[in-house]
Amino acid sequence: MRALIIDDSRAMRRMLGNTITELGFEFSEAANGEEGLAELEALESPPELILVDWNMPRMDGLTFVKSARKRPEYSNCRILMVTTEWDIERMTAAMEAGADEYLMKPFEKEALVDKIQMVGLTPPNGGAGA
Ligand SMILES: [Mg+2]
Repeated sequence: MRALIIDDSRAMRRMLGNTITELGFEFSEAANGEEGLAELEALESPPELILVDWNMPRMDGLTFVKSARKRPEYSNCRILMVTTEWDIERMTAAMEAGADEYLMKPFEKEALVDKIQMVGLTPPNGGAGA
């Protein structure tokens, strides 16, 4: 199972990458929405899961979600917004744009597992005992 991690913070990408690897995903990464779209194009098949930050230079997470959702070939990708922004308007905007779930930073591994399961995916390494 594949994931794409999009965040302008290298530390956050590493942290998410480590966690997602423990859960049995393979992943690739991008530093902003533009790079994320380019990475989607470059992949042989779309990733099952996309973790995307909100605030990023060049193209933010909301714009990325809107762009990705215009492409039918990515319609099966589950998209989690991972962000520090906690406000209902933003959350609503993200969901209306086509994000599947919303995860607040900082988060525990259990919270990530919960959200992955909520969007209908089963992490290859279960999630039991995670
Ligand atoms: Mg950011």
